[in-house]
Amino acid sequence: MHKWTVETVAQIVQGRVIGNSDLEVQGCVIDSRQAKGGEMFFALPGEQVDGHDYIEAAWKKGAVLAIAEEARFNGSETKFSVPEDKALLLVESVFSTFRELAKAWRLELGAKVVGVTGSNGKTTTKDMIAAVLSRRFRVYRNKENHNNELGLPLTVLNAPSGTEILVLEMGMRGLGEIRALCEIAKPNIGVITNIGTTHLELLLSQERIAQAKWELVEALPEDGIALINAEDSWSVKKTRNDTHPFRFYGTEGEFAQPQIIGSQLRPWGALGTTFDVNFQGEETTANLPLPGQHNVLDALAALAVGTVFGVSLADGCVGLSELELSKMRLEIRQGVSGATLISDVYNANPVSMQASLQVLKERASGHKTLAILGEMYELGTAAESGHREVGRTLAELGVSELITVGKLAEEIAYGARLAGYPEDHIKVTTTRAEAVTKALDFLAHSGPEVWVLIKGSRGMKMEEITMKLERSE
Ligand code: ATP
Ligand code: MG
Repeated sequence: MHKWTVETVAQIVQGRVIGNSDLEVQGCVIDSRQAKGGEMFFALPGEQVDGHDYIEAAWKKGAVLAIAEEARFNGSETKFSVPEDKALLLVESVFSTFRELAKAWRLELGAKVVGVTGSNGKTTTKDMIAAVLSRRFRVYRNKENHNNELGLPLTVLNAPSGTEILVLEMGMRGLGEIRALCEIAKPNIGVITNIGTTHLELLLSQERIAQAKWELVEALPEDGIALINAEDSWSVKKTRNDTHPFRFYGTEGEFAQPQIIGSQLRPWGALGTTFDVNFQGEETTANLPLPGQHNVLDALAALAVGTVFGVSLADGCVGLSELELSKMRLEIRQGVSGATLISDVYNANPVSMQASLQVLKERASGHKTLAILGEMYELGTAAESGHREVGRTLAELGVSELITVGKLAEEIAYGARLAGYPEDHIKVTTTRAEAVTKALDFLAHSGPEVWVLIKGSRGMKMEEITMKLERSE
């Protein structure tokens, strides 16, 4: 396995080594606690803590090389004792060095890079792409949601040599951010899941959101294929003024004719979906362990990426059927009083909450439904309208009972009322404990087979509600 020596690292970034420059390094950490052995530790200055205070801790945990800022030492570095089997590299800016080294490793790696961005479903799609491509290639992807200016270089630097395809989720909060990530990632293939409105983006206009995401396509080489959601009006619109080769995926083909087509969506198991998929005459059936049309679209994006790399639909579908779900995203649990709990407590925004309500209705197939919905954070000026929108959808879907948790979530109840939802089916609560009491009461009086959705922003800790409603074994 290919490794860098401390000397090589120093040469790439023009830094000054103190200690042993013959040592070999592999991988990197930016949190000293994550070191396992052999890594580079970047002493990045954070908002609350400064990495420079953790250099010795990182060495102790096994990191070999610490990269720190020259100015912090003011010529006193000789007093800083560097152990024999460790090294310190002094540079002007740790953050720039972090980016530089990620760029260098990306080039040396020689892997193809798939960039994934969009308003919703980036992590899901990234994991699905990896599942499909892993059938044929050595794939590395960012862990969890490591999609920003720290997570992306971290991922690149940790990609093992021998990686054939690197799948990178890219997040953004404004113009120029995807471009900056692409300077490191140098994507060969791009996927845009959708261009909608989510959390922070609500502060930007649609036009700017679309442009910000399109930076991924602009960063592709001229012949770099972009995979585009045919059901997303903004994405399709952006393709019209762009000369890159596009491949569309979709179910209805609302805005463009898809080449990778999903059809006949039907339930599979408790939460999964079966659908037929078609590409250039090849047709097969996919079993996806996730519900809802939105997840099918993410799966189609993944199969579409597969087609670019020559992975057959049939092979790709095997990968998808074995998909491992990230923790806390749409889990199904047995609840008290014979209820079924859909716990989707990882995070929430209006789009994902409405998608989950659809799933609740679809899966309950006629049985009673209860939605326990907590506050959605980070909506800025759209907080009120975002919550009300969810309430309206809930009323339209005819969810049987609503329990809101927290002050902001009262706007969900308000939105439901405006849409004609009956007052006696709304319970407004301020704490999780109160919500649990109301939910238990409802379940005790509703007969068996109630389906319950539990969802809210991460900070709402809605999983504590799930735990209280679970049937103990
Ligand atoms: P983040 O911005 O937090 O990184 P993300 O874009 O990575 O989010 P995921 O974490 O994959 O998104 O999914 C978040 C939620 O969005 C899911 O729980 C699901 O309800 C919803 N979702 C997933 N895919 C789509 C899609 N294609 N369209 C709309 N909603 C989706
Ligand atoms: Mg994500």
